[in-house]
Amino acid sequence: MVKPEVNRDSCLGCSGCFTICPANAIEFDGKATIIKERCISCHTCVNYCPVGAIVVEGE
Ligand code: SF4
Ligand code: SF4
Repeated sequence: MVKPEVNRDSCLGCSGCFTICPANAIEFDGKATIIKERCISCHTCVNYCPVGAIVVEGE
């Protein structure tokens, strides 16, 4: 599976993805950033984000 990316212009800063990521692969500084080296491509964050700000390129 492909590793997702955060569209920081769309991110509302809810911090939900940061909380639920099972691999601790999301940094939060007011908006979310995915640390690709840690991401296990589970897509939990993609499915969770209330505004669709976490996207998978090519899907
Ligand atoms: S769940 Fe979506 S809106 Fe909330 S912090 Fe993560 S990327 Fe931003
Ligand atoms: S795809 Fe899974 S492991 Fe990767 S950042 Fe999202 S919730 Fe974390």
